[in-house]
Amino acid sequence: MNKQSDLSVLRHSAAHLLGHAVFELFPDTLLTIGPATKEGFFYDCVPQRSFKEEDLVAITQRMQEIVARNLSLEHKEISKSEARKLYAHNPFKLELIDQIPGETVGLATQGNFYDLCRGGHVARTGQLAHFKLLHISGSYWRADRNNAALQRISGTAFFTAEDLAAYLKRQDELAMYDHRVLGKQLDLFSFHEEGVGFPFFHPKGKAILNTMVSYMRELKQQHDYQEISTPTMLSDHLWRQSGHYEHYKENMYFLNVDEQPYAVKPMNCPGAILTYKTRPRSYRELPLKLAEFGHVHRHELSGALHGLLRVRAFTQDDVHIFCTSEQLQPQIEEIISMFTTMQSKFGFKKTSFSVATRPASSIGSDELWEIGTKALENSLIRAGLPYKIAAGDGAFYGPKIDASLEDSYGRQWTCCTIQIDFFQPENFDLSYIAPSGERVRPIIIHSTIFGSLERFFAIVLEHYRGNLPLWLAPIQARIMAITDAQQPHAQQWLTALKEVGIRAELDHSSDPIKAKIKTASLEKIPWMIIIGAREAEQAVATLRLHDGTQHANLTPEQLLTLFYEQTNIG
Ligand SMILES: [Zn+2]
Ligand SMILES: [Zn+2]
Repeated sequence: MNKQSDLSVLRHSAAHLLGHAVFELFPDTLLTIGPATKEGFFYDCVPQRSFKEEDLVAITQRMQEIVARNLSLEHKEISKSEARKLYAHNPFKLELIDQIPGETVGLATQGNFYDLCRGGHVARTGQLAHFKLLHISGSYWRADRNNAALQRISGTAFFTAEDLAAYLKRQDELAMYDHRVLGKQLDLFSFHEEGVGFPFFHPKGKAILNTMVSYMRELKQQHDYQEISTPTMLSDHLWRQSGHYEHYKENMYFLNVDEQPYAVKPMNCPGAILTYKTRPRSYRELPLKLAEFGHVHRHELSGALHGLLRVRAFTQDDVHIFCTSEQLQPQIEEIISMFTTMQSKFGFKKTSFSVATRPASSIGSDELWEIGTKALENSLIRAGLPYKIAAGDGAFYGPKIDASLEDSYGRQWTCCTIQIDFFQPENFDLSYIAPSGERVRPIIIHSTIFGSLERFFAIVLEHYRGNLPLWLAPIQARIMAITDAQQPHAQQWLTALKEVGIRAELDHSSDPIKAKIKTASLEKIPWMIIIGAREAEQAVATLRLHDGTQHANLTPEQLLTLFYEQTNIG
């Protein structure tokens, strides 16, 4: 058994322990199912009266008592008729018994408590000491809203006290550095009832977004992408032709313009395709690489919205490459290399890739799919990047790569996708003139490197726990005079730094220097430039970094050198 399966045995046993405590304290509770999950375990039940958070204290205490009893866990097979007698009062368990194939079912017993179960337990309750109940929430029988409403008690369990403590610390950190919390604390963005799911970016949040856009624009320019901009609203007719109406209308916003039906774009593809089609194209122009920071609207269910991670309006750093089949692989290699360049610039250490292959229902010849899938796989192989195959997970119109980043908490985020498309070139009758003079169909690659800028913004913010690196921070440096006498010098420093494009500002307050430092720290400003009487006289400054390290007596030239060194990392 590997570690994860051992852990799920432990957690499944902890669910029995929870069931046992609930049974002793609230004997009329109907227990339903209590499985192990990725991060812990839960038990769903119908309580005799609604459980409240306070009840977790008593349940926890009883669980600890049962741990102390160190009961042995026995497992045996019993006949279904015997099991039906045991659970005559519990329609949920009866339904489970009916669904188990064969004539017998498993029963786990510890002391006077028994539970329907297929097996896989620790030997004794004494092994379950390191658990923690986390919350009570609502659920439905079989996760179906039309079924009975249940209450779910969730918790987690580990083999050691240290592992449990580390998990709880991480949960606290995740809550403390949730991007929604940081967004408010650092005055970066907000949401309003007047536009549910539509983020508002404040000056500092917009400064971060602008830096991300400038970075990506430059990266794409280096690789000969040409930037375009296409309309937010386009005629309904176009969306019908592109197939979005047919497959995606639930997520689209419609409106009328001059009594003609229009839709707000959920994707940028048709705009890029119409741009391609404005005139005949020659093979000499291929690959034609069009980039767009396209603002799209998608109607997500309000329950699915989650800060900037799931919104109803966002910006994609979208790319549409029109190319020949021979050009597929070099283009894909280029995107992968841009993605890994971006990943290291933003301080992510690990990536992972998957290639989604042809699904059962799809269009295009076997030969095209073969060429496309090989191009994706070979690009990853040539870059020395391991990947998984997601068999049959491709779109009906072509295979794709999903590229994920791992953040500082070890969470995986899929950002970049590289989607090959055989359908739209056919659908929009796209062509180019080959050297022979023939009209030939190009292939389209759709790709984004950040994915959604808003979502990427949230990921980066949480990855750094709000302490953005110098190059990305909205305010890079705050200049502070120790007393008012040095304010004119501080002003000179400000002018000099702004002249070279550093996002700097001055602390105008008359607060003591300690307070100025504290304010800047809370705002997570990476550089504090401090000027006292001696510094003013010698035309130098003390640089204090966010982590508290100091560099004394820096001349403006030395400070700039350090700035460029630190912003060019990655
Ligand atoms: Zn069990
Ligand atoms: Zn597209």
